[in-house]
Formats: sequence, C-alpha cells, structure tokens
Amino acid sequence: MARFIFVTGGVVSSLGKGLAGAALASLLQARGYKVRMRKLDPYINVDPGTMNPFEHGECYVTDDGAETDLDLGHYERFTGVPSKQSDNVTTGRIYQTVIRKERRGDYLGATVQVIPHITNAIKEFATADLEDEDFVLVEIGGTVGDIESLPFLEAIRQLGNELGKDAIFMHLTLVPYIAAAGELKTKPTQHSVKELQSIGIQPDILLCRSEHPIPAGQRAKIGQFCNVPEKAVIQALDVRTIYEVPLSYHDEGLDEAVLSAFGIEDAPKPDLSRWLDIRDRVINPEGEVNIAVVGKYIALQDAYKSLTESIVHGGIANRVKVNINWIESEEFEKDDSKLNELLGSAHAILVPGGFGERGAEGKIKAARYARENRIPYFGICYGMQMAVIEGCRHVAGIEGAGTSEFGSSDPNVVGLMTEWTRGNETETRSEDGDLGGTMRLGAYPCHLLEGTKVREVYGEELIQERHRHRYEVNVEYRAPLEEVGYKFSGMSPDGELPEIVEIPDHPWFIGVQFHPELKSKPFDPHPLFSSFVKAAMEQSRLV
Ligand code: GLN
Repeated sequence: MARFIFVTGGVVSSLGKGLAGAALASLLQARGYKVRMRKLDPYINVDPGTMNPFEHGECYVTDDGAETDLDLGHYERFTGVPSKQSDNVTTGRIYQTVIRKERRGDYLGATVQVIPHITNAIKEFATADLEDEDFVLVEIGGTVGDIESLPFLEAIRQLGNELGKDAIFMHLTLVPYIAAAGELKTKPTQHSVKELQSIGIQPDILLCRSEHPIPAGQRAKIGQFCNVPEKAVIQALDVRTIYEVPLSYHDEGLDEAVLSAFGIEDAPKPDLSRWLDIRDRVINPEGEVNIAVVGKYIALQDAYKSLTESIVHGGIANRVKVNINWIESEEFEKDDSKLNELLGSAHAILVPGGFGERGAEGKIKAARYARENRIPYFGICYGMQMAVIEGCRHVAGIEGAGTSEFGSSDPNVVGLMTEWTRGNETETRSEDGDLGGTMRLGAYPCHLLEGTKVREVYGEELIQERHRHRYEVNVEYRAPLEEVGYKFSGMSPDGELPEIVEIPDHPWFIGVQFHPELKSKPFDPHPLFSSFVKAAMEQSRLV
C-alpha cells in the first residue's frame, strides 16, 4: 500500500506548490522510492482544455490524451514518470461523474450531497489506478480558505484518518519580509495553519517560502504556534534555477523530515548526482545563444511553460545559456521593419503552438524571415502549419494558401480533421461537435523517413509524440511542396497525416505537428531541442 503525501497551499497563490511537490517527489525517487503525483483542481471546468492560455497558462497533455494542469508538466520534468488521465481531476469532472451516477440511478433513494457523495468521489479518484508506488503525492489546487477547495480538503482529511500513519500533510506557506520593520513575519503562516486546523487537518510539514533565511528562533516559533516539530518547519528560499530546488530542499532537511513523519528510519541515502550535474550545467554555462520565440500569449509566460523548460533543457544538453526573446507575433503585422529589428540578433527562431487567427500572419512572416535568411527555424504545431502555409504561398506559388482555422482561405492547405486512426480504431469528429476534449489528443506514433534531418536527430525510425490540435496539413500538398525543396520527413504510419516537414537545404528548418516540449526533461533533454539549440550555437558563430 502506498503512502500518501497531501500538499496544500496557504497565504497566497503562486507559491509554487506544484514545483515543491515535484521536487520532494524527485528527492524520494533519489532514495530509490517509486513515486506518483496527482493534482486535484477546485475549478468547475471539466478540464483546462477549454480555458484561454492567458487565464490558466499552458494546458499539459498526457500520453493517454488528457488535457491537464501545467503542474503535471513539472511532475513529469522532475520525476520522469509519465502522467495519466487519472492524475488530474477538477470539481467539474467530479460533479460530472456523480451526476451521471445519480441519473443512472446508482444512488436511488438517497439525497445526493457534497458529503459523502462528492467527497467519496474525490477519495476514490485520489486512490484509484495505482500500481506499486511507495509514495503518492496529491496536490490540492488553490489556497486554503477558498470556498471551492473545501470538499477536497474534507476528502483528504477523511483519507488522512483512514490511512493513519500512511498519510501526511505538507502545507506550503509564505513568510514575508516587511522591509519597514526589517523583519520576517510568521503571522500569515499561523493564520493559514489555523484555517487548516479548523477543518480538521493538522499539517505534519510546513514548507515556508521566504526571500530571506528564517532564523532558528522564528522557525521554533512557527513550530510552536502551528503544532509542528521544529525540524519539520523547512525554509524554502528562492534559488537560481528551478532545477536547484531539489538540492536546496534536501539541504534544508525536507526529505528527512517527510520520512521521519512517516516513521521511516532506515531509508536509503539519496543519490543526487543527476541534480548536481544539471545545476552545474545551468549555473556554469560555456556560452550563450539568443532564441526568439514568436508567439501570441507572450504576456503570460506560464502559457509557454513546457516550451521554456525544453529550451532550457536544450541549453543543458549543450552547456550553454539560452536567452529567450519573447516576441508578440502581431508586431510583425503592423510593420515589416520590425522583422529585422526584433529578429536580427536571433540565432534561431521558434514559433510555438497557438489557436485562432490573431497573430497568425505575423508568424507566417517570422517563418519566411527564418527561411530566407537561413536562420534555424523550429515550428511547433501551429508553427509548423504556418511554415507550410508560408512555403505554399511564397515558394510553391499557391498564393491564397491558408488554414480553415482562418475562416475561408482558398485553398485551405491546413484543414479540419474529421477522421483519424488510433491503433486499430478510427476516431471521428464533426464540425459542429463539442469543443471540449475533442481535439486530436495524446501520443501517436510517427514514422521518420530515412535520410532526413529528423531521422538523424532522433536516431530512430518510429517515435511517439503528443498531439493537441484540431487541424492538419493536407497531404495533397506534399507533392507540390516537395517539388520546391521541402521534405515531408515524418508521417503517420498509414502515410495520411504529415507530422514533420523540413527543408533539407537550410541550416535547420523543421516543423512538427506534435508538441515535443511535453516530453523533454532536464536529465533527458528532447533531441529536437538539443539539436535546435546546437544549430543556434552554430548560427551564433556566423553572426
Ligand atoms: N490551432 C491549430 C490546430 O488546432 C494548432 C494547435 C496547436 O498549436 N496546438 O490545429
């Protein structure tokens, strides 16, 4: 039976609960334990798939096609354990399940209520679909004190009782520094813990985010007021890179305190070599390159979380620091001179995924600039579709080329997919169907053609990458584009869906229909990102 660690947050949001949990999981893993991480999100959307990236940041997609919270990306990047549909649930999905059962008559005769029906559904979710994990970390989204997280907190309170010594609670708080008084303040932490205690949860570990070291006296005070042993009050100071967090928490005794809260005295010593190497590579780079990312959700960097991290991983692989220059693609639509101004110093250009017509023409201009100036270009999903449209318009002479996502282009070289195969099954979509959960989602195989750049980069013939899109490049345009120097180097195994397009006679020009950034890890950088950063390094020697 697995042991459970429930992670809650208090005082303010954005303290990095997801990262903290992921770092703790990686420390337990470093001691040889098998871990699993899940997140319970208190909002009503059934999943974050329908939310605007400005609203919720990136939507992270799992192999099995779930659209999940971006914290699951941190979990995978820190532990390497692939997340599943069963690792993220929302209030909306819980209610949907319960209401479906009610309609079916499963509760016949009963009044269906938050306690016990909703809380039971939450408990079932938190404990379902496990294998032989040693530790399961369950993060509760939101901040203690929110009305909407109450059913989740009640559910984990009950689980805590049922699991006894096999469950602990870790609470993340903020210890702010008041400059005028020159003091760190413990009161918000005390209040937040009181709030938890009032719903029957006594935290075992307090992880206190702070900009300044918390003196031992203050830690003792927090421990005393919050009824937590002093050695379980852990300071979590800001660090230079997120990949230093596991090392920093270990130095502060977090994993030690967690094991001792479970009464585990004979745990193996951790092997932290992986994290020491990553930290060293990030902190002591041997060079720098500039990569321009031309997107449309630039104002909120969380919208590109996995992408940013994958670029960092590409830097880790090559021991260089990558400076990312975020550019709003609409800039190029107003004024062509912006291209030189904003892309002139870029050693490589990346156009990431996106939805809708806004900013698309700017992305097309960026792809053209990269192609004509022989600057490495990486197009991801929408970025591939835009590169294909650009190639059709300006190289293959198909002037009106566009995507059906723009409304009516003539012709649509990128169009709505209504049918595709997954394994032996055919999945179908209709134009007027639901928007939620109906894209081509999750991992699909892709065949890489012999003698192409991507085949060399991956060193494999068959790859699996994760998708999240509604439109596809129409295979009818393969021949006209290949005639003018493009190569459709990655195809779905049935040969129907173009998954990768490249330009062989270009230093590095690759567009992929999938999202490679979802599978990159600091200790296992994605080959496309390693190769792309390497191409940027080569370019930097030229300019
Ligand atoms: N909007 C495009 C589509 O749905 C691309 C999606 C994406 O970039 N993830 O096909």
